[in-house]
Amino acid sequence: MQTDLYKHKGMRRALVKQLRDKGIRDERVLAAIETVPRHFFFEKAFVEQAYKDKAFPIGEGQTISQPYTVAFQSELLRLQPNDKVLEIGTGSGYQCCVLLQITPNVYTIEYNRPLYEKAVLFFRTYGLTPNTFHGDGSEGLPRYAPFDKIIVTAGAPTVPKSLMKQLSIGGILVIPVGDDKTQKMLRITRVEEEEFTKEEFTEFKFVPLLGKEGWNS
Ligand code: SAM
Repeated sequence: MQTDLYKHKGMRRALVKQLRDKGIRDERVLAAIETVPRHFFFEKAFVEQAYKDKAFPIGEGQTISQPYTVAFQSELLRLQPNDKVLEIGTGSGYQCCVLLQITPNVYTIEYNRPLYEKAVLFFRTYGLTPNTFHGDGSEGLPRYAPFDKIIVTAGAPTVPKSLMKQLSIGGILVIPVGDDKTQKMLRITRVEEEEFTKEEFTEFKFVPLLGKEGWNS
């Protein structure tokens, strides 16, 4: 278990200022990022890296997303307290912890077994209680649907139909879609049972979403 010192809090304040300067406006999201100790997700030797606005390797060929990406996706979700949120790609657990600052009702699913186990241990160690799942999140979690918000933290080739079906009416899906090099951030809103709107935002670079409705490997 790591400690959160005054110097770490100072580094988080500086990071939040950078995110504001880059255009993030959602105060709930900024407060969450200021609260969650990102260095807890890093080996002690790499603590200095934790408050740079950069992605960082977490093992298994995967990364903890860049803080700006976490903030951008979280802001697009228009999170409300008590929203029921599904995150696809638990990874380190950092994005999940940011979501938990805003709503206690978080479901998160990870495909990679060692990362899943590491994240579960992390949540247990710090007394956090998201609903954790191991499996193919490209198909969502039909047993627990509908969700008010769904966030996909890996790059998909197309928008998985299963995820669209698991949105509540008025629900929002935020997902990066593209090829293996870059992906455009999309916000899909379920306006009515059969009516969806799609908004397109800037490009990002994510690791691939695997699985049945992902890159299929
Ligand atoms: N949200 C994570 C964080 O805060 O650290 C970052 C996630 S990383 C960019 C993407 C994650 O998606 C990886 O951990 C990867 O194993 C996972 N992933 C890829 N395909 C998946 C799938 N079909 N279902 C669930 N997780 C998947």
